[in-house]
Amino acid sequence: MSNGSFLPISIIGDSSTGKTSLILQYTSSEFRDNMTTTLGIDYFMKDVKGFNGIDYTIKIMDTAGQEQYHSMSLHMLKLCKGILLVYSITDKQSFENLESNWINEINEFIDIKNIPIILIGNKKDLEMERVIDEKIGREFAQKFNLKFFETSSKTGENVNRAFEELINDVIKVNVEKKDSKLDENNDNINNDNNLNPSIQLNKENFHNNKEKKKKKKYC
Ligand code: GDP
Ligand code: MG
Repeated sequence: MSNGSFLPISIIGDSSTGKTSLILQYTSSEFRDNMTTTLGIDYFMKDVKGFNGIDYTIKIMDTAGQEQYHSMSLHMLKLCKGILLVYSITDKQSFENLESNWINEINEFIDIKNIPIILIGNKKDLEMERVIDEKIGREFAQKFNLKFFETSSKTGENVNRAFEELINDVIKVNVEKKDSKLDENNDNINNDNNLNPSIQLNKENFHNNKEKKKKKKYC
């Protein structure tokens, strides 16, 4: 493990969308047909070199999608500098839950417009079972000003690209911060004055979502 700056990111989304498999593919180039269900929160580490030539240690927080862990997963986001939000292109419910169960809820815990988030439509290799068109996923991402990739943790398609894009966005945001230090767990990232405009989310959409949000209890 290098002594690079520490950079915590998180992966969230419904259960069985392939979150743990994406991490496994990214960190070890592996895929398993029978994954053990994640309970609570797991951690994975990977050393990377940023686009700026600096070494970073990425800590990927893997969360459980089940309802009993939903609140815990969201609380944990406060510690993270970037988020991968995952649905499965073969699971309509996981796509429909993006807005109601995830984006609206995330917005309650963190200043969502200032943190890099990448939307992932996973299981791209299962074309025959696809129920969410790529165009629909892309339009959803545009609505919230998120970057978007369709990936396959099985073949590895786009997996590294999605992680690297997130990591580089996180580095850009933090480099732009005055007195930035990635390994300090401060909230300067949420300062409007230090935003990278390319990752700003559509404030109006989030505002509307917040108003529309129905109160739910998960724990
Ligand atoms: P999680 O609950 O979101 O962490 O999902 P898992 O990573 O545990 O994956 C759930 C199931 O989907 C497992 O059986 C995986 O083998 C399978 N899976 C995950 N990603 C893919 C993918 O990209 N393609 C295919 N064909 N199966 C996948
Ligand atoms: Mg898992």
